[in-house]
Amino acid sequence: MSAEHHSATEIPGRLRLVREEIALAAEAAGRDPGAIELIAVSKTVSAAVIEEAIEAGQRVFGENRVQEAHGKWPALKELHPDIELHLIGPLQSNKVREAIALFDVIETLDRPKLARALAEEREQQGKLPRLFVQVNTGAEPQKAGIAPEETANFVALCRDTFNLEIDGLMCIPPYDEEPSMHFALLAKLAEELGLAELSMGMSGDFAKAVVFGATYVRVGTAIFGERILLD
Ligand SMILES: *Cc1c(COP(=O)(O)O)cnc(C)c1O
Repeated sequence: MSAEHHSATEIPGRLRLVREEIALAAEAAGRDPGAIELIAVSKTVSAAVIEEAIEAGQRVFGENRVQEAHGKWPALKELHPDIELHLIGPLQSNKVREAIALFDVIETLDRPKLARALAEEREQQGKLPRLFVQVNTGAEPQKAGIAPEETANFVALCRDTFNLEIDGLMCIPPYDEEPSMHFALLAKLAEELGLAELSMGMSGDFAKAVVFGATYVRVGTAIFGERILLD
């Protein structure tokens, strides 16, 4: 599964560069750099290389597959209990139990059936990760996420019907479009709904996302190098 082209020793320097770029973008936008959390996206990255990032001080990580995360993270979290793990990929209803046990934040809540499954599993496990709603800002048919114009209703459904507290919104803009309008749309939706957290921005555009108000940026390639496997 591992696909690192960069030697592990490059990781502390790459993390530092990404953090510097976040701080510069925040300052240019008149924001407090401390208000932006860097999520190191470690999909396809081996536990040994993840350890390099942890040693360099990184504490927030993202994975896009429950099964892959389950193979790597229980042991890493036991060694480093202060780690915060985000699920940033699609969640199937039959993986909800595992996901609640493993993740601290689920960023990809995007349908009523999943909201119901999370609420039911909360009863079983007596706990629930923090939840973000994924918004399909580009209205791409193949992409997960709730439609922008349905976001308010969906957040209300989560709160009122399932008693789920929603902390923020997340988006993945279309690959072939300028991301700014998508970041602006997500920020506007979050503001209208009174949601504090905004997860947006990846290796190619995280500085822009910071300017538009991101509180979490999700960066993989710029930290760990190119992935060989497709997502
Ligand atoms: C892989 C992934 C990222 C990180 O992408 P990079 O371009 O490697 O930084 C961010 N968000 C999601 C949802 C991803 O699947």
